[in-house]
Amino acid sequence: MQVCLFDIDGTLINTGGAGSAAIGQAFGQVFGVDNLDGVHTVGRTDRGIAAELFSVHGVEDSTDNWQRFRAVYLEHLQENLQQREGRVLAGVVELLEHLVGHDDVAVGLLTGNVAEGARIKLEYYCLMQHFAFGGYGDEHPGRDDVARETLRVAQSHLGRTIAGHEVCVIGDTPHDVRCARAIGARAVAVSSGFCSAEELSAAEPDVLVESLADPAVLRAIFA
Ligand SMILES: [Mg+2]
Repeated sequence: MQVCLFDIDGTLINTGGAGSAAIGQAFGQVFGVDNLDGVHTVGRTDRGIAAELFSVHGVEDSTDNWQRFRAVYLEHLQENLQQREGRVLAGVVELLEHLVGHDDVAVGLLTGNVAEGARIKLEYYCLMQHFAFGGYGDEHPGRDDVARETLRVAQSHLGRTIAGHEVCVIGDTPHDVRCARAIGARAVAVSSGFCSAEELSAAEPDVLVESLADPAVLRAIFA
């Protein structure tokens, strides 16, 4: 069994900045602050980004504030996807179609997006049908905890224990590589997203490619 866990932004799609725009608009609407400057969003979980925004702007980091923020973010996300010019990244559709055609491969999401945000983005780009399960950024500020939860979800979905060596995490930031290591998984890093090949190389992924069209991705998944 091979379990492939995909990041979304910068790995499968580029939304043209729709996600961070929606985050900024929601924060402005709910808390009256309209400035994301200095807050890093790349590779972070939505809950982690919100926690930092709360801290920077003196907003109480409560469940209530998080849920209000998330609800308004999701309202803004769909319209931002329509307004911006995004795209599915090279090789993604071919790779996913290849993987889901294998009986001994399970394909899931390991993303910092909140679950509903992931669904909205991937349905907009007609990719959601490829993913049978996932771990999301609704609860955990740290991506390593999302990885641990995703492994539990995958085991529940498949009805069996999964060893780390059966898992391959595919993502575009050093955070993705690190969270793969947190569950003992292999890491494929792709520089089609938000980080340079040099930044990714420093995180020491098992494989580093320029796009998911590179045959080295399949070799890493089935290693
Ligand atoms: Mg990403």
